[in-house]
Amino acid sequence: MQHRGNRFCLNCGLPVFGRADKKYCDDHCRNDFHNSQSVTNSKLMRPSHKKLRRNYEILTGVIDAGVCEIAKDELLIYGFNTKSVTELDLREDGTMLYGIYDIQYFEKANRMIEVYRKSDFSPQW
Ligand SMILES: [Zn+2]
Repeated sequence: MQHRGNRFCLNCGLPVFGRADKKYCDDHCRNDFHNSQSVTNSKLMRPSHKKLRRNYEILTGVIDAGVCEIAKDELLIYGFNTKSVTELDLREDGTMLYGIYDIQYFEKANRMIEVYRKSDFSPQW
C-alpha cells in the first residue's frame, strides 16, 4: 500500500507536488500545522470538514482493502490528521475510541491502529 508520488499535505489534506520530502502544499500550511502541533487538546474538537473528509477517505480505503489494522505512521504518511474526528469515547479499559462518521478506530500497542465500521461491529460495550 505504498503511495509513492501521491502524497497529501499534512495540514489540509490536498495533494502535495514537488520534492520527495515535501509534506505540505505551501508555507502557509506548514506554519499552520506547526502552530496546531503546539496546541494540544484544546483544538481536538474543532475538526475542519476537509480534514475529516480526508481522514474518512483514508480509513475507508483501509477497510475496503480488507485490512482492519494499520500502522499509525502509515496513516500519517497518507495525510491522516489525528485531531480531526467526529467523536471521542473512552472505553472502560481506558482505551480512547475515535469516530469519524460511521468508522471507528483506536490505537493499540506498537502504534497500530485498528479500524472498523460501527455497523460491522457487534456492540460489546
Ligand atoms: Zn495544505
